[in-house]
Amino acid sequence: MLAPTVDILMYHSISRASGPTSISPEVFARQIAQLVVSNLPVLRMDEVAAHLAQGHGRAVAITFDDGLEDFRQNAWPILRPHGFRPMVYLPTECIGGNEIWAGAHVPPRPLMSWDGARELAAEGVDFGNHSACHDDLSCLDPRAAAEDIDRACARFAAELGQPPAHFAPPYGHSTPAVRCLIGERHRTSVGTVLATADARSDPFDLPRIEMHYFRAPDRWDRHLSGDGVLYLTLRRKLRAVRRAVWSRGNLKRARSWSGCTLAHCPAFGTISACHRTRCLVRQLLPLNWSAVPLTSRVLRGMPGGGRSICGVSAASPSQRRWSHIGR
Ligand SMILES: [Zn+2]
Repeated sequence: MLAPTVDILMYHSISRASGPTSISPEVFARQIAQLVVSNLPVLRMDEVAAHLAQGHGRAVAITFDDGLEDFRQNAWPILRPHGFRPMVYLPTECIGGNEIWAGAHVPPRPLMSWDGARELAAEGVDFGNHSACHDDLSCLDPRAAAEDIDRACARFAAELGQPPAHFAPPYGHSTPAVRCLIGERHRTSVGTVLATADARSDPFDLPRIEMHYFRAPDRWDRHLSGDGVLYLTLRRKLRAVRRAVWSRGNLKRARSWSGCTLAHCPAFGTISACHRTRCLVRQLLPLNWSAVPLTSRVLRGMPGGGRSICGVSAASPSQRRWSHIGR
């Protein structure tokens, strides 16, 4: 029996806008047509946990970050005839406006309205939580991150009638403490690690397949037929090298700006991975030093660091397995 895996496809905008977060309607239609021909089962995010825990063989799930309006115009008409139930992650306090967060496309693309989301939900689209303000949660202290997530959950429930069950942290960034907060309020969370999810995956940092890497039809065909492992591995390693180089530069800058000993900074791991200058400044200046001893021990796996900081052991999130998730 084949081990269960899920390729969780990651999309943002289906449009002719430039950049890696946009895929043209034609390319998207072709990718979905190839997926249909592959006969791989396409799951809802609600079904991913059960498949990884008890299923067998390959499956696919389709996700969209940011709730962009072009989903309705360009993606849903292609997915709906096949009975696919995609997941769209909404930044709740941005809905009805434009993408205005750091790193967003210029010019900003419009997001769907809550009325639009309710109509799509009635037609079969699933919605998840993408935070309240699309801030990088890994750059917030745990209390601020919890407030943001709670605010998003409350707005989501008020607008769509039920709390969100699934989460996608903005930029794919999360720390053990953030994943812990997400895990207390949701059933799954997806990240941006480029890989196929399997039974060993952390349910609160599920890897995804960034579809802009698969614009070429033959490459997508190879992946769908099971021949894409080498390409995915190479891509992942290249990204790791690029991020390591980038992180080293950020860390050096952070040290020179702060004048503090970052070994004692609870955001040490976050800073080294953060690509936003604004995030660095926010982390270093208004740092809540009272949080340092416990959080630092937890993040660094030091003695006493294994205890829970929000109900779940933050020192070993990857030890939480699908079989232990009964929600
Ligand atoms: Zn986003």
